[in-house]
Amino acid sequence: MGIRSIFDGGEMRTEFEKIGIDSKFIPIIWKHLHLHLNLNLNLNLNLNGEGEWERHVPSLPSSAYQFLRSNFPNPLSSSLHSVFHSADNLTTKLLIKLHNGAFVEAVIMRYDTRLGKYGGKPRPGGLRATLCISSQVGCKMGCKFCATGSMGFKNNLSSGEIVEQLVHASTFAQIRNVVFMGMGEPLNNYSAVVQAVRIMTGSPFQLSFKRITISTVGIIHSIKRLHNDLPGLNLAVSLHAPAQDIRCQIMPAARAFPLEKLMDSLQEYQTKSLHKILIEYIMLDGVNDEEQHARQLGKLLQTFQVVVNLIPFNSIGILSEFKPSSEQKVSKFRKILRGSYNIRTTVRKQMGEGISGACGQLVVNLPDKSLGNQDPLTDIEDLVI
Ligand code: SF4
Repeated sequence: MGIRSIFDGGEMRTEFEKIGIDSKFIPIIWKHLHLHLNLNLNLNLNLNGEGEWERHVPSLPSSAYQFLRSNFPNPLSSSLHSVFHSADNLTTKLLIKLHNGAFVEAVIMRYDTRLGKYGGKPRPGGLRATLCISSQVGCKMGCKFCATGSMGFKNNLSSGEIVEQLVHASTFAQIRNVVFMGMGEPLNNYSAVVQAVRIMTGSPFQLSFKRITISTVGIIHSIKRLHNDLPGLNLAVSLHAPAQDIRCQIMPAARAFPLEKLMDSLQEYQTKSLHKILIEYIMLDGVNDEEQHARQLGKLLQTFQVVVNLIPFNSIGILSEFKPSSEQKVSKFRKILRGSYNIRTTVRKQMGEGISGACGQLVVNLPDKSLGNQDPLTDIEDLVI
């Protein structure tokens, strides 16, 4: 049997069908497990003993118990290896060990929306937690500014292994948003990611589509499918340069995805989804941060509904040829996009400093004070809805 995780929805359905069990029992199993795992913070629930599955998940057909006992003595295929909390307690990094011994990171970021204002009024809400999750071990894309890119590609996560990151994180915080911005290019593991999002938006997790964001370097053929498969989802694109030659210099995989065709696919996506697209742009000194680049980017995006997120490059822990742009350059870049092209532009605050919260693409934005504090503390949900 090829099931790695009890949260591998498609495989579970296939196995249940084979042995004649109604697949309606699958979300019921997940619901009980989620509940018990949340009560047991170590997630070391062992259901190997006689009657343990019956005790934890009542009212299943007897063939289901037989199946669960022989396939899942431990309900989770992954385990929490270590947990790091930032000094301000806003960020928690989870190092998760997969069944094959590989590690992935998931990062919980907490926000208090009441700290900011929106449209001149106090921002409603309260504490929120966003989970940044991984979709692959390593990554094929090889972006030159990214620690994961330097690892090369190891393997794809199954849908259940992706969902298990949410299960682990839920024992630390009530997760409201999920962003696929951890290790890996999510659209290179398309079917597992689509399946994982469907599980996360169903019972028992019930996350809203509009609170899930997939970030991609721009895998054109997958962007074309995404709206049909996951309508209502948020899309973020790691553009990082306004011209194909610069993209190829810093993101070798961009050679396979010409900028013009990528922009066409985004136009098509936006026409169908009617959603804003988040454009991520890492600021690299002397590479993509000059005035001419800001103007090129403004022209490229002026027909789109986008939010641009400028990301100060953090070279710590990465062997890199690049240097971060100065604050003045970031500020000027932002001013051009906003002033000349009327594009909403934010500057990302790095969270998790001190705990290597280097999930390359964490999405938190702070106002650029030098520009008069136009934007409040923002998380991705506020950017793209
Ligand atoms: S930035 Fe994203 S796509 Fe690029 S190498 Fe890193 S993980 Fe892969």
